[in-house]
Amino acid sequence: MKVAIIGAGWAGLAAALALKLAGVQTTVFEAAPITGGRARRVDDKTMGAIDNGQHLLIGAYTETLALIQRLHPETPADTLLLRLPMQLESADGSFSLRASALPSPMHALGAILGAKGLGLKDKWHAIRMIASLRIKKWQASPLQTVSQLFSQYSQTQSLCQHLWQPLCLATLNTPVELASAQLFLNVLRDSLDAPTRHSDLIVPRVDLTTLWPEAAAQQLTLRHRHIVKEILVENDCVRIDGEMFEACIVATPPYAVLRMLQCDGHTQQMQALRAALEAFTYRPIATLTLQLEQPWRLPVPILMLDEAPDTGHYGQWLFARKQANQFTVVVSNAEDFLKHDRSAFVDGIVQQIQQQVALHPQAPSDMPKVMAHRLVVEKRATFSAEPGLIRPTNKTAWSRLALAGDWTDTGYPAVLEGAVRSGQQAARQIIDASRAWPETSSGQAASAAGNLQD
Ligand SMILES: Cc1cc2nc3c(=O)[nH]c(=O)nc-3n(C[C@H](O)[C@H](O)[C@H](O)COP(=O)(O)OP(=O)(O)OC[C@H]3O[C@@H](n4cnc5c(N)ncnc54)[C@H](O)[C@@H]3O)c2cc1C
Repeated sequence: MKVAIIGAGWAGLAAALALKLAGVQTTVFEAAPITGGRARRVDDKTMGAIDNGQHLLIGAYTETLALIQRLHPETPADTLLLRLPMQLESADGSFSLRASALPSPMHALGAILGAKGLGLKDKWHAIRMIASLRIKKWQASPLQTVSQLFSQYSQTQSLCQHLWQPLCLATLNTPVELASAQLFLNVLRDSLDAPTRHSDLIVPRVDLTTLWPEAAAQQLTLRHRHIVKEILVENDCVRIDGEMFEACIVATPPYAVLRMLQCDGHTQQMQALRAALEAFTYRPIATLTLQLEQPWRLPVPILMLDEAPDTGHYGQWLFARKQANQFTVVVSNAEDFLKHDRSAFVDGIVQQIQQQVALHPQAPSDMPKVMAHRLVVEKRATFSAEPGLIRPTNKTAWSRLALAGDWTDTGYPAVLEGAVRSGQQAARQIIDASRAWPETSSGQAASAAGNLQD
């Protein structure tokens, strides 16, 4: 069986690897010169290999972590990833929370009870919400927003400001007033109400393309710089810019699927798919990478910044990179960065770091001079994770066509683990569907399906 995969992001590569493992021949088409999609390396003249955006993984990303390990069997995990027990700490030290050593879910409750910067009332309301949600199996009403959820459970202003709002923005890239409560709860469920290690925070120690996409690409047939213009799905084949394949997995964002896809038959289903793809809206993320004159040691590798856009303090999270003089600052839902001159943002954020870190009880020496910086603003970093959004499944009305990507119906917001799982699921979908195809391909496909199940 010959399968085309469009897009060499984390979803497309995961799909291609799963098919390859099952003995299926794949060709991956990628518009860009580099693999990784929205989680990729950027080569900077001064700073070397940095990323288009700082990415944080959590222990619940089981499929992604397994993939990384499988592709680097000889490399110790801590060379690739820095793994920390769940801990949140503000840059000025006024707020902090750390997973306790108790088994799950007591580790999360212990973290809240022992949190610095929250009062007794805050802690009581947070614990009551978690306990109630656990009993309700982490279910919210389908159209509920995160802010409505917080009101329903009487979350205090301090809790929302220090804990819930930053977590919602970091995981859903959507403000609490608009964000889907259910997607937020799915993330909380899989990190807090799961084995303790699932709430670990995991920071890549190598660039995102080196982390695994590059190693995956070495095992695959990949056509870089090929912008697919047309995917024509026919009854017995799929044509990618005229070239014939037996099936195709489209692993690009929804707006790109809309541009490429032409399908024979199932007119109603096509209209429904188009409508679903058109309903997605997107939100930007800005990442500022800074290189300082000298190493600078933060109290902990990840610090929460207190955001105050009115004073130019846009930063939300500060990460120490592996190189002791490099740091990244993340700004989710960075709409303002699309409207104004970007250089002004850099000065404001540098001042914000200087001022806030200086207040920390374990403050390092003054921040060394910034020698280089790079600001990357990804305009369509993620889809806006709002309630009521209908997300297509991997399966389509055309058995030879499957969809993959963080935007498909993964149960997660737009995150790496959703992308990887969707790719693997799309590969299974094609293999299962191929059992019903005519003799020429079905024999191979059936044995491929057997391999994948092994
Ligand atoms: C700045 C930023 C920060 C983020 N932070 C986090 C984080 O901390 N944690 C987390 O879990 N997630 C994070 N995410 C989300 C995460 O990056 C995505 O969920 C994930 O990368 C999506 O992968 P994908 O394969 O679904 O899509 P993509 O990565 O978008 O891959 C699609 C690929 O298709 C290619 N393509 C498009 N059109 C065509 C065409 N016509 N022909 C050929 N190829 C085409 C594109 O070039 C791209 O390589 C962040 C995203 C950004 C942008």
